[in-house]
Amino acid sequence: MPPVIRFAASADAWEDYEGPLRRALAARGLGAAELSAGALPPDRVDYIVYAPSSEVQDFAPYTRLKAVLNLWAGVENVVGNPTLRVPLARMVDAGLTQGMVEWVTGHALRHHLGIDHCLAHQSGDWVRHVPPLARDRPVTVLGLGALGRACAQALAALNFPVTGWSRTSREVAGIRCLSGEAGLAPALRGAEIVVLLLPDTPATADVMNAGTLALPSAGAVLLNPGRGTLIDDAALLDALDRGQIGHATLDVFRHEPLPADHPFWAHPKVTVTPHIASETRPATAAEVIAENVRRGEAGEPLLHLVDRARGY
Ligand code: NAP
Repeated sequence: MPPVIRFAASADAWEDYEGPLRRALAARGLGAAELSAGALPPDRVDYIVYAPSSEVQDFAPYTRLKAVLNLWAGVENVVGNPTLRVPLARMVDAGLTQGMVEWVTGHALRHHLGIDHCLAHQSGDWVRHVPPLARDRPVTVLGLGALGRACAQALAALNFPVTGWSRTSREVAGIRCLSGEAGLAPALRGAEIVVLLLPDTPATADVMNAGTLALPSAGAVLLNPGRGTLIDDAALLDALDRGQIGHATLDVFRHEPLPADHPFWAHPKVTVTPHIASETRPATAAEVIAENVRRGEAGEPLLHLVDRARGY
């Protein structure tokens, strides 16, 4: 029996994904799969391609479900769903990774090169601001997963000395790798640019707080394309006001869209980007989804499985 796949995400996403998904399934001999964005009888559905904001919140009626295939990298809004009793795969997509590398390197270079300083002196001031070479600007990346690793390596390729931090011990070529609670302070100490690419879990909440914000070099730049919960907002505002943090470029927030009256909007040392650091790209993401359906049908282990207890 060809698998039955429910696409549970927005109508816009369906427009973007339907063609690439059908092609990717056909390329794996699954052209007969029934793929629908409409409501199917739940007891016929084998796989749900899933956006956690979709109308499917109760998985209990999906009695023959084999897996939920998340369209996004972050799973914090589905991982704790008590009705989900089948494997959950998250999105690791080459297009998403490339987008994140571009956002992180772009914003790191903005601060490294002092582009804001140049823009502030465009009215005839000959104020020379010579940045150090990248090799003299330590960068720390918290999170060495699919995205953190790629960003760390891209920054190292530009000659920044990069330290990475993860929960378990990792080895990444060209990166000084630290891990666990004991590794956090040494990872942050003396950093001039700090990039947050951790998932939203109970263990990562407020990882950047009054204590840890004091560890990077005075005037360090914070880039957060991870999740809003990683930062204690009040502690960051205080560190910015005192100059301990020189600038924060934030893509993600505790409440999105960021409320109009949030102090981040008006703060001169904060750049807000509206959760656009990186998007799942249908052409490449469809291949990952179709490959997981193929694996599920062949009884092979799925790619990018989430550890429900760990939360990511
Ligand atoms: P991932 O592959 O799951 O990697 C997560 C990394 O964080 C791993 O290195 C993991 O350590 C580390 N980690 C988790 N909990 C930790 C803890 N308590 N202490 C220390 N390290 C910890 O995730 P990813 O694909 O790189 O994505 C990272 C996050 O980026 C996502 O969860 C999502 O929130 C965010 N994101 C944002 C956007 C955007 O547009 N802004 C787009 C995509 C993703 P181990 O290596 O030891 O497991």
